[in-house]
Amino acid sequence: MSDRTLFGTNGIREIVNQKLTPELVVKVGVAVGTYYGGGNILIGHDSRTSHTIFSNAITAGLASTGCNVLKGGPAPTPALQYAVKHFKLDGAVIITASHNPPEYNGIKVVAQDGLELSRAEEEKIERMFFDEAFVRRAWNRLGRVTPFPGIIPAYKAAVKTHLDVDAIRRRALKVVVDPVNSVGSLVTPSLLTEVGCQVVTINAQLDGVFSREPEPKPETLGDLSATVKAVNADLGVAHDGDADRCMFVDELGTVVWGDKTGAILVEYILNKIGTSTVVTPISSSKLLEDIVTRNGSKLVWTRVGSTIVTNTMKDLGADVGFEDNGGLFFTPHQPVRDGALAAALMAEVLAKRGQPLSKLVDALPQYALVKERIECPNEKKAPVLEKVLKQTEGLNRLTLDGVKVFFDDGSVLIRPSGTEAVYRIYAEAREEARAREIATWGVSLVTNAL
Ligand code: MG
Repeated sequence: MSDRTLFGTNGIREIVNQKLTPELVVKVGVAVGTYYGGGNILIGHDSRTSHTIFSNAITAGLASTGCNVLKGGPAPTPALQYAVKHFKLDGAVIITASHNPPEYNGIKVVAQDGLELSRAEEEKIERMFFDEAFVRRAWNRLGRVTPFPGIIPAYKAAVKTHLDVDAIRRRALKVVVDPVNSVGSLVTPSLLTEVGCQVVTINAQLDGVFSREPEPKPETLGDLSATVKAVNADLGVAHDGDADRCMFVDELGTVVWGDKTGAILVEYILNKIGTSTVVTPISSSKLLEDIVTRNGSKLVWTRVGSTIVTNTMKDLGADVGFEDNGGLFFTPHQPVRDGALAAALMAEVLAKRGQPLSKLVDALPQYALVKERIECPNEKKAPVLEKVLKQTEGLNRLTLDGVKVFFDDGSVLIRPSGTEAVYRIYAEAREEARAREIATWGVSLVTNAL
């Protein structure tokens, strides 16, 4: 949040009662309500302790502009997005800070088609907010505020229509689910049970405190990994705070990186639906390109950000989207990240392929990944990028977001971080030594430019 900007890459995200205060959120509600111009707007939230304050603040703002507010209660972001489309509503406002720690909260705004607003639409809301160009309705034209139950059953029913439930049921998998004390608890354990899995949960009470960091990654999933081993489970499933992402633990208790499980899911989907277009941010591994190419499908790279992936999928009519942080997008269901769908599809993959997850991971093309970071003051990011672009002219490269240079045996992405004063270098190659060599070259481009 800065001078004339409210929304970051994933909506508004701030620490509660610092920048994100109830009075600010009422005003956001008025701006968003003015943008919608009335209609039936769903409001939902994750399990954070501040959800009541901000749901009520948004509700007050929306209703004052004449929008009817439908209170959907706690639910995963993808369930709320699905509800907008399914129940033919006019939009939604979701109170969540996704993978941020519990002291944060945030606001995502969803359009009539269930997708997060594009940047251009967010800018319209920002202009209304900062210019205070608000619609305010008289006492007899205020919006109504009513409860709106039934979102989660409708969402689970929709997910099941994309599954081979009989196959999953026959395999009778044991799955441990870790929804990080948030809204994934309301869907994934019961969904997997209903399709015939035996489910064990950890961190499944909605207390808004979070027993682990909500970002699902190897460092935060130690308890899930230990539980998978302790109960001899076939699979571990972990969500972030709003359950639009899903990371997996194999039957040996190893946390598998999202690029690998994502590649397994994407290949499975493409084999199921035929060739299509797959959309992914420039930060994804060449592994995905290998998988998509060998299926005869087309891979389209985008700038980093789930909203960009979603909107590119919509523009291209792509069926599948993928992010290596555990984001799977499947248009026949909805072209947004959907954690419960990813979890249930992985159960189907294990059932249909008849092999444990560790074996499926071993069978993938193997790449060594080397990550480096170089401190770079924010004001120097643009001039550095200009020099790096000059130095890589004529090479096989993409310049969507930083620069990604492709070699016959690997690639390197050189990209200024959107949130920190650093440049990130991601190099990968079949051989570890070669990945290191490419990374060193990437680092040298940035340090020379500095
Ligand atoms: Mg999320």
